[in-house]
Amino acid sequence: MARRKIIAGNWKMNMTPSEAVALIEKLKPLVATENADVVFCVPAIDIIPAVEAVKGTNIGIGAENMYFEEKGAYTGEISPAMLTDAGVKYVIIGHSERREYFAETDETVNKKVLKAFEHGLTPIICCGESLTQREQGITIDWIRQQIKIAFLNVTAEQAGKAVIAYEPIWAIGTGKVATTEQAQEVCAAIRACIAEIYDDATAAAIRIQYGGSVSAASAPELFAQADIDGGLVGGASLKEDFGAIVNWQ
Ligand code: PEP
Repeated sequence: MARRKIIAGNWKMNMTPSEAVALIEKLKPLVATENADVVFCVPAIDIIPAVEAVKGTNIGIGAENMYFEEKGAYTGEISPAMLTDAGVKYVIIGHSERREYFAETDETVNKKVLKAFEHGLTPIICCGESLTQREQGITIDWIRQQIKIAFLNVTAEQAGKAVIAYEPIWAIGTGKVATTEQAQEVCAAIRACIAEIYDDATAAAIRIQYGGSVSAASAPELFAQADIDGGLVGGASLKEDFGAIVNWQ
């Protein structure tokens, strides 16, 4: 069975609650499609008004992060139950900006992935290499290690429902898109790694996005690749372009 595409916007630290509602109202008609899952991953404070604003549409709301404990003395953190109670369905885990600025590691990513599944949230698990790693020729080794640790103790059934976002760090917010060949090569390697850890059926079910300066212009060719099942979109998700990306065909 063909995998359904999933196109998610990552708003990052943009949009106040009132701006979020205005943007959703603007994008709603542009992203209405039956051909893909459409997700807006929004800042924590925007979640409640965003869930309200997308009621009755095809848009799912995601969080950009969450903590891996149930509750307690973790000032400033958001728990998985807080997200599900608010109507959140997806959560980005291990974005490279969180790894770089907030000391997230493969181990914390794994804890968060396990916790997300425990609560019925779909994790969008980010991986990606730096420019130095690409130039050193260690991209695939690096990504395989990130994937293997992220999926530690995750069952095959859970893994099949996960979303992985391959985001070369050098392509995020830089305007430099990976070539279609580079993106497809790594996404295929990720699928092969999932097949090794689990089995062919799980590898065939899991959805793998490409992220890194995706635009309305680059989306059609990227999304046509055999192992690319959609995109995680930063900058362009805040603009009308997101409508064109979602309707890439
Ligand atoms: C991202 O932050 O996940 C991302 C891919 O950003 P951009 O599209 O702006 O490169």
